[in-house]
Amino acid sequence: MILPNSIIGVFGSGQLGRMFAIEARKMGYRVHTFSPDTDTPTGQVADYETCADYEDLDAVKKFASAVDVVTFEFENVPSQTVEIAAQFVAVHPPGDVLHTTQNRLREKNFLRRNNFPHADFRPIKTLTDLENAIAEIGAPAILKTAGFGYDGKGQAKIKSADEAARAFANLNGQEAVLETFVEFEKEVSVVAARDAHGNFAHYGVIENEHVNHILDVSFAPALVSEKTFREAVEITRAVVETFNYVGTLCVEFFVTKDQKLLINELAPRPHNSGHLTFDACISSQFEQQLRAVCGLPLGSTEFFKPCAMANLLGDAWQNGEPNWAQALRFPEVKLHLYGKAEPRPGRKMGHLTALADSAAQAAEIIRQARESLKQ
Ligand code: AMP
Repeated sequence: MILPNSIIGVFGSGQLGRMFAIEARKMGYRVHTFSPDTDTPTGQVADYETCADYEDLDAVKKFASAVDVVTFEFENVPSQTVEIAAQFVAVHPPGDVLHTTQNRLREKNFLRRNNFPHADFRPIKTLTDLENAIAEIGAPAILKTAGFGYDGKGQAKIKSADEAARAFANLNGQEAVLETFVEFEKEVSVVAARDAHGNFAHYGVIENEHVNHILDVSFAPALVSEKTFREAVEITRAVVETFNYVGTLCVEFFVTKDQKLLINELAPRPHNSGHLTFDACISSQFEQQLRAVCGLPLGSTEFFKPCAMANLLGDAWQNGEPNWAQALRFPEVKLHLYGKAEPRPGRKMGHLTALADSAAQAAEIIRQARESLKQ
């Protein structure tokens, strides 16, 4: 068991690490973050910050020998970096889970191999692969690069076979996956945690709305049937069991028009849709990650009230500093900012949450509060 006052190492230094570090420090742990950047969202609240490339293996060794356990807030850390760290200290989640989830093709093969529901897909290495794949799975379809994609980056919708050559050229030689375009009714996620003894905790089903492929608003509980709720939770439980997972993980789903669940993506870490647990639950997704990687019992995932969250992207700074005071006039609204200096369009700068008597009401309040930032 890793007790308070120990040092938790975190690969990555973004907002997920920041909220993790806040929870860890609340419980008397110290936090050491490792990333190539300086003055980072995590570094600003961590006790120690190493600024080095993930490929700098000497720096990785030094970091791993200075901490009591290692976890992640960013899954695209090279496998070799994780392997080296694991020679010095326990790493959760383990390297093989990262290896699977940091590449869409490996992740989809994992889903297929284990009979988890997913949209049909084909691996794409050549233009012929792409032409054959379009003929087999049909159009529209989505072409996604296999590596390093998030928030819709590296994705292109293919509406007909004549678009194949152009879409293939845009890949610039990167390996890709073609998947069926899903006419979904809604998108939902399940954020869950599993400890080393196999205990499982989840936050139920969260409903997510995206704008330009980026998460915009989440609310919980999701407006889904009891059957969909049960299935989503059971699939998530099976995923973490299959991985023998320790930590917090999120499964993103499409709910199709005929109420079937398809897994879109797995995130082996706390997730943007789970940010609302920070304000709305007895133990947040970040606290669960901490408890799991330290070998402590998981906390309660109970919600104080239904909740909604709205992301604040850099676009909100277009006409200068947002009017924080206006949003904070809503007494049930909480403001989270990640300490990022430069508000670039599409960059996640912070979020707002609101608790209310129903998820629909919380979602309404959060939209109004975000709108009022423009005043
Ligand atoms: P991803 O980066 O794969 O999570 O994709 C980001 C968003 O793009 C998803 O949350 C969906 O809104 C949309 N999207 C991705 N894949 C598909 C698909 N196969 N069919 C329909 N929409 C998709």
